[in-house]
Amino acid sequence: MQHTIHERSWVEIDLAAFRQNLVFLKSFLQPGQDFLQIVKADAYGHGAKEIAEAALAEGAVYLGVANSEEGKLLRIQGIDARILILSPSLPEEIDEIIKYDLDPAVSDIVFAKNLAESARIAETDVRIHLKIDTGMHRSGIRLEDALNLYHEITGLHNLVVEGVFSHFSSAESDSIFSSLQEEQFAALIAKLPEKPRYIHLSNSAGTIGGFGKICNLARFGIFSFGVDTVGGYSARLAPAMSFKSTLSQVKTVLAGESVGYNRDWRAPKDGKYGILPIGYADGYDFLLSNKGKVLVQNNICQVIGRVSMDMITIDLSEVPNARVGDIVTLLGANEPELRAEALAGIYQGSPYELLCQVGRRARRYYKSRDHILHSAPIARRDFIAADFGNSKLNQIISSALAKRLESAEIGDLIYKEILRSFFFNKDRDVHYRRSFAHEISFSTMNNAAFYQAKTRLSYRKILGNNYFVVACATSDESLRRYFMRTDVEYRWLLDAALDPGSEHFKVDSVKINGFELFTQMNLSEDSLEIRCSHPKLDALIGTEVEFEISTTTLYPKNSHQLSVFISELTQGVQISFLFPEELSHVEPVRIFSGQEKNPPIIREENRITLKTEASEWVFPLSGVVFTY
Ligand SMILES: *Cc1c(COP(=O)(O)O)cnc(C)c1O
Repeated sequence: MQHTIHERSWVEIDLAAFRQNLVFLKSFLQPGQDFLQIVKADAYGHGAKEIAEAALAEGAVYLGVANSEEGKLLRIQGIDARILILSPSLPEEIDEIIKYDLDPAVSDIVFAKNLAESARIAETDVRIHLKIDTGMHRSGIRLEDALNLYHEITGLHNLVVEGVFSHFSSAESDSIFSSLQEEQFAALIAKLPEKPRYIHLSNSAGTIGGFGKICNLARFGIFSFGVDTVGGYSARLAPAMSFKSTLSQVKTVLAGESVGYNRDWRAPKDGKYGILPIGYADGYDFLLSNKGKVLVQNNICQVIGRVSMDMITIDLSEVPNARVGDIVTLLGANEPELRAEALAGIYQGSPYELLCQVGRRARRYYKSRDHILHSAPIARRDFIAADFGNSKLNQIISSALAKRLESAEIGDLIYKEILRSFFFNKDRDVHYRRSFAHEISFSTMNNAAFYQAKTRLSYRKILGNNYFVVACATSDESLRRYFMRTDVEYRWLLDAALDPGSEHFKVDSVKINGFELFTQMNLSEDSLEIRCSHPKLDALIGTEVEFEISTTTLYPKNSHQLSVFISELTQGVQISFLFPEELSHVEPVRIFSGQEKNPPIIREENRITLKTEASEWVFPLSGVVFTY
């Protein structure tokens, strides 16, 4: 196989292998049975979005996640299939469940009532799956109370019982107990006055074991990733995940010397060993110390010494020509000894856990057989957007970009980049302005070279601090500096011939919610800063307030153009230019990015106005240049 990847470590996900495993699993379904693809825990580390898409293409009718956050992430990534939350949800998750159209598992009447009430307020119906405990004794309503709960819930408004399900405790190892659970479940289903749309019980092993015949849905997890937890099926399953690294150092060791922490391994003879730049922080289990196996140039090599946080050491005595840069496989790749079930078996661990944790610091490459399709960023799992109030913003920006670029693919790419910098970065607040109105009016004055320019700016925004700055720059350089600062609300570039110190730039009034702020001038060599504050502002921090800023300044007649920029994400923009009679040929040039590239122009005598819809989003660096 031709490799172009050379990183400290990476994960390869073979989507063709995944789909082949699904085909195998589907062969166990009865006619009329559908399947739900489990994508919880980022699809056991394989990437929830990619696995969801492949499973849906293979006919999955449902996706299964662990909590509302996982469901929300899938929605943000554009998945619109039905999503079941398998674990019990907290009351705090109800808003997101409704907002992102997720179907929770319910086994508690108090939660059900809360959910119904929130659904009523949101004027929507929520689909739920009733979770029954048939003997696993983890989540779910106890069997003897199940029928009661069913009746109570069906009596609630705004809830639809879309499914009833239970879960095996030992489908892969105890068929007698599984049969008992199945009998109990079947007896309960028989008592329901009306069959919900989905009845489901089996996971992978249950399906393989022939359980769930009375069901019309099966839940596929571990086997779909090519891991055989039953025994005897590994030849029919192809591991979807491989974890690889690059040999970063090759060294010699002399008989009797020890390697690594605590001197846990000692060389029986002179030999060679290698260092791999991955450790337990990358998800390589500490319990594989002195026990793990890796593949180097088609040779299985032993992990020697303790697994460190960031490194492991491997015995290279049998691979005399091993070199720095050699690719080393730590998991998968169809090597029987490197399958998740075999590796986990070495330390009596769980192959589920192994898959979830391996490659924590690794980029994931998606491929179909040997062909690489695309890669996903390292630790993508962290990029879950914090909610930013306006639920539609995501979709609006996404569709605006896609439309603007006429290419869903590029639109999607840019959308993700923009969203990441706007919202996914948790340290950064989302600022946007609403109802932005900027009016600039020129009038003639005694000075022949300049117009007097009066500016009036107003908008609504969440107040972030108890002061802000209005800045007047005299050079592009200082203007740029003010664009970088987050405490500057308004910037003006003064003509180089003018002096900011001699009242050529004046703040007439600065108001928040209609009350006048205190202003304090601060003149430096190349700029004038006006600090605006008021003791009342402390109480308003974090709330949306109305800003009003009015200035008077001068503008050179011979400039022949006036630019008005939008410097922040803004919803609803109106920009007006009022000009004296002597300027008869004013032309606006619109540079808008957002939904509307050409906001309508309203021409009146001596005034030109550009106005978007109040709900429309306009991106930073939009604006208009008035030429005259
Ligand atoms: C995780 C999970 C599964 C998947 O089980 P596998 O053994 O991975 O197939 C099925 N059902 C429920 C309720 C689960 O939480």
